[in-house]
Amino acid sequence: MTQRFCSDTFDEKIIMNRRNALKNTAVLGLSAPFFLKTELLKQKGNPEKILSSYHKFRLGDLELIVISDGHILFDKIQPSFAPGIASDKVIKALEDNFLPSKEVDLAINILVVKSAQKTILIDCGCGFNFGDASGWLPKNLSAAGIKPENITDIVLTHAHPDHLGGLLNKDDTLVFPHANIHLSQIENNFWMGASPDFSKSKVNASLAEMVTNIARHTITTIKPKLHFFNDGDTLFNCIRLVLAPGHTPGHTIVNIFSKNEELVHVADLVHSSALVVAHPDWGFEGDTDFDLAIKSRKKVLKELAENRKLIFSYHLPWPGLGHVRQKDDGFDWVQTTFSVPD
Ligand SMILES: [Zn+2]
Repeated sequence: MTQRFCSDTFDEKIIMNRRNALKNTAVLGLSAPFFLKTELLKQKGNPEKILSSYHKFRLGDLELIVISDGHILFDKIQPSFAPGIASDKVIKALEDNFLPSKEVDLAINILVVKSAQKTILIDCGCGFNFGDASGWLPKNLSAAGIKPENITDIVLTHAHPDHLGGLLNKDDTLVFPHANIHLSQIENNFWMGASPDFSKSKVNASLAEMVTNIARHTITTIKPKLHFFNDGDTLFNCIRLVLAPGHTPGHTIVNIFSKNEELVHVADLVHSSALVVAHPDWGFEGDTDFDLAIKSRKKVLKELAENRKLIFSYHLPWPGLGHVRQKDDGFDWVQTTFSVPD
């Protein structure tokens, strides 16, 4: 797992790992193989329509826009989801929610926060790292009338490749040249430390290494633009950052607020409504600290349910907006619906 950063072999490893990722992608650092299927685009209808997906709404004085970066298809459910849980229980949970029992398809929902002074991205998708089923952010930003140079700030919820992969072009230049980039100090220290500790994770070593390499390379390359935040910090008078560790050590929830309105971006607290929201204890293999992630997930979901907060989810179905309510030993995801497209 330990990588010496400044060696020649490091770059080679990055390239090799990116190639491996394209062949047998492990975006979230999971042991079960899953594939990003470009064929799925064809199955889902007109690719041009999918590639121009965005959703605008207001929150107080802010304009919020959800942009699709594409999707990540898990074509095998366990052990990525619910490792160690009896498969008949897992299949029943999916079928009870009218969902496929053989695959889980994750959205990649990127939130843009526009205030009078700032145009802020919360995470920035996969970039070129994982093939044609993702990396749609720049094109869809353009469809929403936003150029890369218009982005003033990027807030990273954590340093996994499906969240920071969109920061760099293939030649390591910045996709968003004028943006300041904000990352948790704890997250930075974890990935840039001598040997990131995956001993409490169920992720396998080679994939942990791939995720680590991309994080270290990206964080090093963006260093001139990088700013660190701590738990509880507020940015731009409209964003409050709250540590929810487990998925990664610095995994951060982003509260967006204006006037009396609030939206809680839960980042990677949950990856499936039927499995992880409904059964928080079943867990997610890609979590760096499997048990701590369960603890954070239950704590945050309980607060969100009790306070009836509007939620934005990076990986739940497009456009990722909804609420949770308590149900049995877990929670129920109630997707926000719209009467007309916008
Ligand atoms: Zn993710």
